[in-house]
Formats: sequence, structure tokens, C-alpha cells
Amino acid sequence: MAVAREQLTDYIGQLLQIDRFKDYCPNGLQVEGRREITRLATAVTASLAAVEGAVAAGADALLVHHGYFWKNESAPVVGTKKARIGTLLAHDINLLAYHLPLDAHETLGNNAQLAQRLDLVADGRCGDQDLVWLGAPAAPLTLGEFAAHAAEALERQPLVIGDTGRTLRRVAWCTGGAQGYFHELATHDIDCFVTGEASEFVTHLARESGVAFVAAGHHATERYGVRALGAHLAERFALDLVHLDIDNPV
Ligand SMILES: [Zn+2]
Repeated sequence: MAVAREQLTDYIGQLLQIDRFKDYCPNGLQVEGRREITRLATAVTASLAAVEGAVAAGADALLVHHGYFWKNESAPVVGTKKARIGTLLAHDINLLAYHLPLDAHETLGNNAQLAQRLDLVADGRCGDQDLVWLGAPAAPLTLGEFAAHAAEALERQPLVIGDTGRTLRRVAWCTGGAQGYFHELATHDIDCFVTGEASEFVTHLARESGVAFVAAGHHATERYGVRALGAHLAERFALDLVHLDIDNPV
């Protein structure tokens, strides 16, 4: 089956409520390709490897979490930017990108999908645009046990700062590069904050506040939202689906 590009972008825009968010990049169609979409490829980031993967798979559209045209990025289409966009245009492939709206979606989003894999039960949200989720482990466990579970579930060893013997009662999480929220979260009544990336300051803040910090990988924590959205769209519009997992240790 095929779906018209506009129908697909309208559908995703409503599903993810993209107008509700103030974001650092455009959400939706970022590079225009062919009008009809039969085969959809997904990837976390629209890197050249992902674009080439979409070409090799014969995809009509590439759906990603990290697209292009970020605030503060250099505007000229030169170098690696030319290679990526040029390859998309040369093969008439649509680039669809959804950033914060894909982090936040109730069931398909990165936070929801991460919670599923880490057995976290959400019961609240906080932070800028409610992007941080709050909740508890489905069954009581220590920080060390939680980290071991995360390593297995995400296929990557997390960075853990805190007393591994302490029991986790309340947990906050936000996928990707959300370590900046730790300043605010360290003042909350939580035992641990889980995100993708770390910065130098988090070590001291974790030690001084007593709130443990876990960096489980930016790519590793954001691998699942775009996959879930892709699977949902493939089912809804009877599309061919290809998941491209481009390894990324960060
Ligand atoms: Zn991200």
C-alpha cells in the first residue's frame, strides 16, 4: 500500500501534537521527496549512513528523531550537510523528523519506550514542557541491580554515579542529552535520574545531593521511540518498514 506524503505528515503531526512544542528544529517534513510513500525507513539520526541505508533499502521516506536545521547550526549547505541533503534529493527520499514531540508521546515516545524496557512505571511529569517523567521501578531494586538491568535491556553499559546498594523508590527519566535538568531534579524527592548523556558537573551534584545519576547512552535511550512510531505507521498505512540501527557509542 502507499500513502500520500501529506496524509502521512498530517497524521503524524496530529498524533504527536507537534504544535504543542517549542523545539530547536522543525518537526515534520524537512526535505521533500516523492509524493507517494510505500516503504518507510527509520533511524535515530539522519546521518549519512542512515541516508545511504534508506537509499539501499529503496525507502521513499526516512523517519528520524534527530533531523537537520538545528538552532545555532551553521546554515550553508556545504560539506557533510551537502552530502546528506544531496543524497536525499538525488534519490527523491522524504526526510521526516520529530524531536521533542517524539520524546514526549504517551505510548510511542522515547520516554515511554525507555520506561517499558527499564520496567519503570510513570506517574507524573515535570521540567521544561513536561519532558521529564517521574515514577517508580515496577519492583523494588537497588541502583546496582537497576544498572545491570539497563545494561542488558539497552545493550550498553551505563555510567552510574551513586551508592549502588541503595534502594530505588522514586526515579526521574528523560532520554537523550537531558543532563542539564539534573540541577533542578537534584532538589526533588527522587533517588535517581536516568538520562542518555553525562557532563562533568553531574558527578559532584550526585555526590552532594544524594540523588544518583545514570547516563545510559543518548543513542541507546532514544533508539526505541522512532522504531515504535515507524511500526505504528507501517501498521496504520500498510507500509513496508525498515529499521536502520546505526551503531553509536555515545
Ligand atoms: Zn536526542
